[in-house]
Amino acid sequence: MHTYTLPGTDLRVSRVAYGCMNIGGTWDDTPLSTDVRESASRAIKAALQADITLFDHADIYARGKSEKVFGDLLKASPGLREQIVLQSKCGIRFAGDPQPSDPQRYDFSYEHIVASVEGSLQRLQTDYLDILLLHRPDPLVESEEVARAFDALQTAGKVRYFGVSNHTVGQIELLQKSLEQPLLINQVELSLLHSYLIDEGVVANVSGVNSTLATGTLDYCRNHNILIQAWGPLAGGKLFKPNAEADPALSKMAQLVGQLAEAKQTSREAIVLAWLLRHPAGIQPIVGSTKPERIATCALADEVALTREEWYSLFTAARGGRVP
Ligand code: NAP
Repeated sequence: MHTYTLPGTDLRVSRVAYGCMNIGGTWDDTPLSTDVRESASRAIKAALQADITLFDHADIYARGKSEKVFGDLLKASPGLREQIVLQSKCGIRFAGDPQPSDPQRYDFSYEHIVASVEGSLQRLQTDYLDILLLHRPDPLVESEEVARAFDALQTAGKVRYFGVSNHTVGQIELLQKSLEQPLLINQVELSLLHSYLIDEGVVANVSGVNSTLATGTLDYCRNHNILIQAWGPLAGGKLFKPNAEADPALSKMAQLVGQLAEAKQTSREAIVLAWLLRHPAGIQPIVGSTKPERIATCALADEVALTREEWYSLFTAARGGRVP
């Protein structure tokens, strides 16, 4: 697996990253079971064996249990913390937190951001996060308040670098105008089955296509050296399920992915991820499989080269028709 220095940092990151959302088991208050712990340990070992260096978390994953099980693994592996890049997110609050009548909501207040990071550090059993992302845009955001929280966390040595997730261009600019620290990452949903951010650039101003919602997010991030991380890059495995080739909505794509995997002697997962890697924005897929053998086949994406014609054939199958 190739690694590179994330622009504007001293962090060495792998082209493919590992997402820890699914390693903590169920999203409730049940304690971590031995089964979940063993499965998490196998998944993290497989990711490390594949030379993945960046691990993505959020305070909410499995209600904190994903960070907790990862923290226990870190504690049991002296020296590992310094070899990896640890990223977490904050800003989403569950219904009932803390009052039973409180709704599910976003919270970019100073108090919540700082308290969330304290919780993540405690669960991960580390003194610092390499990267903190704001999870989903908060309509009530006050950028000066976020700036105060980022300054406090950075000055205390608790967070080294910052970014966002699911943010539009305008939302990034609104934050950035108050921040001392550059926003280095925007993590967005992106895959062959969810390629709107790529498609919008192709259909902008085409007759009969409503492109008024186009945000230009990918081009903006590329122009401003903001790394695009792709969440859901395998689209939850939908293209690989046994019935995919029989499903009219998926069959063309599933067949093409299978053919390319055979021709290039690689896995179908690798082809789907290589489609993201081929994009010149330097997209970093965040793979969320918990199965060691699947994590290994995903890592093969780094070795796959797709031609322009192969990339467009996959894109055409994904969008259900040729480009304009
Ligand atoms: P994903 O990698 O597209 O999907 C992983 C899921 O697909 C797992 O449940 C996996 O099951 C299943 N899968 C993969 N290949 C399969 C196959 N061949 N057959 C059957 N099932 C297959 O993405 P994701 O888990 O949705 O997200 C990845 C990471 O992105 C998360 O861990 C998290 O870190 C991050 N994320 C961020 C946001 C955000 O808002 N920023 C939102 C969601 C996720 P197995 O475990 O059984 O392999």
